[in-house]
Amino acid sequence: MEKKVSLHSTAVHAGDRKRPQKDQAVFVPVTTPIHTAASYFYEDMETLDRVFGNEIPGQSYGRYGNPTTDALEELVTALECGPDSGAGALACSSGMAAIHMALSTALMDRRKSIVAASQLYGATLGMLAKVFEPAGVNVHYVDFCDDAALAAAIKEHRPGAILMETISNPLLRVPALDRVGALAQAASAPLIVDNTFATPLVIRPFEHGALFVVHSLTKYLSGHGDTMGGIVITKGDDLAVLRSLSRTVGFTLGPFDSYLAMRGIKTFPLRMEKQCANARKIAEWLGTQPEVERVYFPADPKHPDTENVKRLFSGGLFGAMVSFEVKGADRERVFRLMNALRMIVPATSLGDVHSMMLYPAMASHRDIAPKHRARLGIHDNLVRLSVGIEAVEDIIADLDTALHA
Ligand code: PLP
Repeated sequence: MEKKVSLHSTAVHAGDRKRPQKDQAVFVPVTTPIHTAASYFYEDMETLDRVFGNEIPGQSYGRYGNPTTDALEELVTALECGPDSGAGALACSSGMAAIHMALSTALMDRRKSIVAASQLYGATLGMLAKVFEPAGVNVHYVDFCDDAALAAAIKEHRPGAILMETISNPLLRVPALDRVGALAQAASAPLIVDNTFATPLVIRPFEHGALFVVHSLTKYLSGHGDTMGGIVITKGDDLAVLRSLSRTVGFTLGPFDSYLAMRGIKTFPLRMEKQCANARKIAEWLGTQPEVERVYFPADPKHPDTENVKRLFSGGLFGAMVSFEVKGADRERVFRLMNALRMIVPATSLGDVHSMMLYPAMASHRDIAPKHRARLGIHDNLVRLSVGIEAVEDIIADLDTALHA
């Protein structure tokens, strides 16, 4: 007699865990589905054992990997390195988690010393000061746009990691990545490059000597302001260390966010091209406005790193961030300008399809003491614009109204 299965057990098991049926054609979904399972099993324990032991590819536990996240990692690795480069990636729960993983991996078997660019995202500076320094890592800050100072710092501190951004946040400085890469390689020091602002469409840091490339996936790659994530790409022994560290600390990206990031990346080159073109026109327009004191944009002939920009950036693309100072403005005047925006979103983040404006003194660089901020050149009249894919004349019209508010 067939034993009746309780409704409670049916609720747990029915419909799930289907094996292919005899003669069933194997099907392939045209896009990677969202795999939410926390764990995986096989027809026999021997196979699971071999997967656990990394003898054969497969899934075992969500903190170790997930098919949706694996697909995203393969995609971003291909964008940064091309296929079959021997590199691999680890997707993390945020850009900051990715920077943390890259630094921890680089320092694992190396000297606990970092040479870091003084021009970095505020939270990255905060992580160095609040997490790595208290853990006994010596951090030395250098102007990465001063080749001689950088060479001297690397020689003196013999770092276990060198950290920089391709286009710095928020003043859009562009260090000579090729020369930094050569210095790093000569010193056998791993170079970690945060390529969030530039993206692999503008520059691919591995071609210039980077050993780790990091992104906040939250920004251009995902591009729609609806997900958070980060990713580290590296190769060789460091990839093995990165993966093993990740299994232990578990900063992994969940399958829903991996799916959204992957979906966003499909249109990333199209969006980025349009955003870069819009940004160039907006920077030119801002440069003609009497209310604007100074424009920061890598294509500006007066940009201090123009030689690096010409040599390193490809395809006539210069990124899609434009920062500018409003003549004589204090915090109140900047707030008035941002309150007057009708289309540009006055919110924290960047790289989305919609244009966004941020006030660095209040947001990205808020935790840095005002005096130090001033030393870095981040003044109270500086705003940062992330240019979106809207019609450029509409963005300019919004800026025009806000500048006269
Ligand atoms: N790197 C840069 C250059 C950034 O601008 C940001 C965030 O704004 C991050 C990293 C951190 O990314 P997330 O906010 O995804 O942690």
